[in-house]
Amino acid sequence: MLNPEIARIEVTRHILRAFDIHASKRLGQNFLVNPSVVKAIVETAEIKDDDRVLEIGPGIGTLTQGLLEAGARVTAVEMDKKLPAVLRETLKGYDKFELVEGDILKVDIASIMGDGPCKVVANLPYYITTPIIMTLLERRLPISRIVTMVQKEVADRMIASPGGKDYGALSIAVQYYTEPEMVMTVGANSFMPSPAVESAVMDCVVRDNPPVSVRDEKMFFLAVKAAFAQRRKTLGNAIQGVGITKEMAHDALMKAGIDPQRRGETLSIEEFARLADSI
Ligand code: SAM
Repeated sequence: MLNPEIARIEVTRHILRAFDIHASKRLGQNFLVNPSVVKAIVETAEIKDDDRVLEIGPGIGTLTQGLLEAGARVTAVEMDKKLPAVLRETLKGYDKFELVEGDILKVDIASIMGDGPCKVVANLPYYITTPIIMTLLERRLPISRIVTMVQKEVADRMIASPGGKDYGALSIAVQYYTEPEMVMTVGANSFMPSPAVESAVMDCVVRDNPPVSVRDEKMFFLAVKAAFAQRRKTLGNAIQGVGITKEMAHDALMKAGIDPQRRGETLSIEEFARLADSI
């Protein structure tokens, strides 16, 4: 059975002291110090022997060790220049680990992961959660599943339904590309140092096909972006943001059977698809 040693608080404390590592706020460093959360993440990802996994921000190797113990082949991208020396020591003896030094938003993920299918598993740096998720979704990489630790507030946005304050462009993108599920919430004391916010583990299984068909995906996401860029505006006004006149916006909404007085946050994914198709 999985034995995520590094996640034990005394082990993490020892490693940080031994390598003189001070968690960097700027890099969103909150190290996991709860072995049962590591186990839960690895189990959620349903890791099988030789599964190829992209890990974002391995830190001192806490989650990485759980993944490797479960048999995964892990390629991890880490930006902090101090951590490779630590990882060489903490993950010594695991031969299915490869480290790529760099910024996840800049590395060419397709070239480091190759063509075959892979899973993404990560305790994300919270300051760039949304750009990372959007990059993974939009690049059409052969990713089958994305299991991540995120702020609870972001998890709420990922699974939000139309009508509420959490519903927005992120909800639509995540639900268009994946079937998202909030697996568990995780308290601040499972991390060192403790973040100021509550966290949650998200399981996003990438869909083979989107839940709605749209003629032009680019226009679909442009319409979503325009609708939420000015949340308080009615759609009749906001949708002009895709680059059309007020009259054209009005006509497109009428053609799609959507009242121009409604706001974007009330539209379902199906309605956004209909609207995009009629612009
Ligand atoms: N995986 C470790 C754990 O669970 O304890 C560390 C998680 S910590 C929340 C986030 C990690 O992402 C840190 O190791 C940080 O240095 C790294 N990181 C921050 N920004 C990054 C970026 N742009 N690209 C790659 N890694 C980054």
